Order: sequence, then C-alpha cells, then structure tokens
Amino acid sequence: MIEFKVVKGFDTAMNTPQTSGQMSEFIWAKAVGNAGLSDIHEKVLAGERLSFEEGMRLYATPQLNVVGYLANIVRERKNGNVAYWVRNQHVNYTNVCNKGCLFCSFYARPKDDPRAYTMTPEQAADKVRNYGDVPITEVHVVGGVNPKLPYSYYLELLRAIKAARPQAHIKAFTMVEIDQIVRAAKKPAAEVYEDLKAAGLDALPGGGAEVMSDRVHEDLFYAKPNAARWLELARAAHQAGLKTNATLLYGHVEQTPEKVEHFVKLRELQDETNGFLTLIPLSWHPEKTALEHIAPPTGVEDLREIAVARLMLDNFPHIKSFWIMNSAPVTQCALWYGADDVDGTIMEYEIIRDPSRDRKQVLTSRQLVEMIIEAGREPVERDPLYNVVSVGLENVSTTEGGLVEQFANKGHNIENLDILAREEVTTASQRLKHKVKGTLLEQAV
Ligand code: SF4
Repeated sequence: MIEFKVVKGFDTAMNTPQTSGQMSEFIWAKAVGNAGLSDIHEKVLAGERLSFEEGMRLYATPQLNVVGYLANIVRERKNGNVAYWVRNQHVNYTNVCNKGCLFCSFYARPKDDPRAYTMTPEQAADKVRNYGDVPITEVHVVGGVNPKLPYSYYLELLRAIKAARPQAHIKAFTMVEIDQIVRAAKKPAAEVYEDLKAAGLDALPGGGAEVMSDRVHEDLFYAKPNAARWLELARAAHQAGLKTNATLLYGHVEQTPEKVEHFVKLRELQDETNGFLTLIPLSWHPEKTALEHIAPPTGVEDLREIAVARLMLDNFPHIKSFWIMNSAPVTQCALWYGADDVDGTIMEYEIIRDPSRDRKQVLTSRQLVEMIIEAGREPVERDPLYNVVSVGLENVSTTEGGLVEQFANKGHNIENLDILAREEVTTASQRLKHKVKGTLLEQAV
C-alpha cells in the first residue's frame, strides 16, 4: 500500500486515503500546497475573509485550477449544486449617450449620429408585449445617457413596461443613468428612488462602476460618475429598500490591484447595507470601440475573474457568469469556478453585437437548462430575488427562439442597430479616437 504524507486538514488512522472522496481531498491539498496557497485554503475552509494581499496572490498564481477549486468550496457552501437561471428580457431603450466611454461600442453621439435611436415608452412596452406568451419574471432595462430625456420620460418608461407585464420585476438603470435621472429630477437621490419605485422599479442591475480606479476612470470614462459617486448612489438605493447587483468590467487597461480594490470597496459597502445580491464579472469586447487594438480577454481570464470574485466577495450571496459576454462554453466551466448563476434567456441585447464570433444573443430556456445539466449542476429557475420558480426541466420550452426571430429589433429602427455589424460603419467611440488623433496631429504640425 502506498504511504502518503500527512496533509494539514486531512488525516486518517493510517494517514492514508480510504475513500475516493478522501483521495480527491488529498490530491487537491497537495495541489494547493504546490501552488503555495495552503494558508488561503485554511482561511477558505474556516470561512474567513481574504485580505487585499491574498487577492493579489490569487491573481498571480499560474495554478488557475487551484483558484477554481478554492472558489468552488465557497460556491458550494453558499449555493450547493444549484445553478440559477432566469427567464428575462432586455430592453435597451436608447443608445444615445453623451459620456463617450472609450471601451463602449454601443453608444451614439447625441448629435447627427445615424445609429441613434430612442424608444418612446410605448415602443418599449410593445417590445415587452411581444413576448407576452413567455412567462418572463424579469425585464432588464438599461440604455445610454441621453441628455434630452426629461425626468418624466423615465417614470413613463417604467409605468408603460409595468402595465405591459405587471407580474414581472423591472430591474432598471445603471448608477450612471441614475446619476442623470437625479440631475434631471433636480431632487435628492432618496426622493428619486421613491418616485421610481412608485412607477414600477423593483431592483437595479448595478452596472456603471466598471472598475473602481481613479486612473482608469480618468483614462477611459472620465465623463461618468466616479467610484465615490457610484457607491453613494448604490448606498442610497439600498437604503431605499432596492436590491442591486454590481459588475466588474475587465480585460481593457485595468491592472490587478485595481480589480482587487474594486472587490474590497464592494464588500465594505455590502457590510454596511447588505443590499447587493450578485456580482457579475463582465468580459470586455473591444470590437468597434476606440480600444479595438487591445486583445479581448481569454477564457482563462474569464474563469479567473469569476473565481477571484467568489473568493474575495465573502458577503455576496451570488456570482454570475454572464454567458452573453463570456460565451456559453466558458459559463459551463465557470459553474465549477465559483459561479452559481448563468443569467437568462435575454431575448434581445444590443450592448454588444458580435456576429464575427457567431455569438448568439439569445438562448431558449431549454438550451439554458440543458447547458447547466451538461455541466453537472442542478438547474433552478429563479425570479430576480432568487425565489425558486421551477426546477430542472419543468417549465422549459424552445418557443423563445422562434419569438426572437419574429420580434427582435422590431419596435424601433432596426437599421440603426444592424449597421454596427457592417465593416464600413464607424461607431461613436471609434470616431472619437480619430478626432483625438487628428487634434494631436494638428498640434504636432
Ligand atoms: S458605457 Fe459609457 S458610453 Fe456606453 S452607453 Fe454606458 S455611459 Fe454611455
């Protein structure tokens, strides 16, 4: 019989694995030790919070599988073998935006941009009515910062969507849009949240912070609220009784300490308010942005972001792998690297459109559930607050795919969106880059 060395946290009378489960633990303990992460392993097993420095080590180690193993311990402690999905619909009500973020391909400048569109509240409601036969539990509403929209527009938008789908939760507006809505309302954020709730708002998606670094903010998205303002508006939302998510946009110019700091800031606010439900690492897409010379994140990076997020955010109940950004295959793997949520059926999504990589913008409920089962997890359909709606293959269908064929891009000017896929069309972000380059050239002459 082979004799094994004693590994801390593992022992039997003979110091020898007796079962396959013990053998597995033994092998992983060896791997963790070889990666120099045994001290972090002990803290993870004890449920202790990891420090900033330990977060840095999780990014530094080449042993990604070990980081995934550690993250999976936390994932299974919090959520067992369950993988959540949601039957949802996205509505991107306008792409007009005056913020000019260099990483964004979605937005159109407010003046003279042929790609620009803004839906009326009734057009947005029509989009929701298109999927009336699908038992959607969440309508996810985000858009650009269109400076021409009055405060009343946002209230009417919520009312119209709520009237079209009274049973569905409305999850709407990043903190960047909330900042604009507060400005348009000329009222304190607390009062604005009460108005929005009365009009139908149930929760917020939590985007817009990107990565909480003054350096990246200055370089890529200086016109948007900074980290301090984002946190202030998130705190006010939680105090108003609204649950939110949070995101991390990675793979552009951010550096590792900035990502770890991002997690530290989020968990500090969570300690204070307990208002966050989910952290969603967002895999950045450089195509058609002013930064398209930067290579996109790889699958390895995608998995590491999920795993480190799970390990650092000890007080967040859920980590989502947003399949539409990191692909369905990576999301299947991510369910073993810390993620317990895959988002949902989406129906229509305009923020990234990437035909060059054949990334579909919709999965039917059956495809989502089969994807989870194939990955070895138990699919559970949730509502936006993680109440169970259905389990396994109960209640799934393939009809969403046909409806998307029929309705996607109807209700507003389809041409304005589809031109993004054409090679000859430059986006607002690309034009901004050319303009800046031109100015620099003129200055040089
Ligand atoms: S990411 Fe920036 S530019 Fe794009 S829509 Fe949002 S605020 Fe506007």
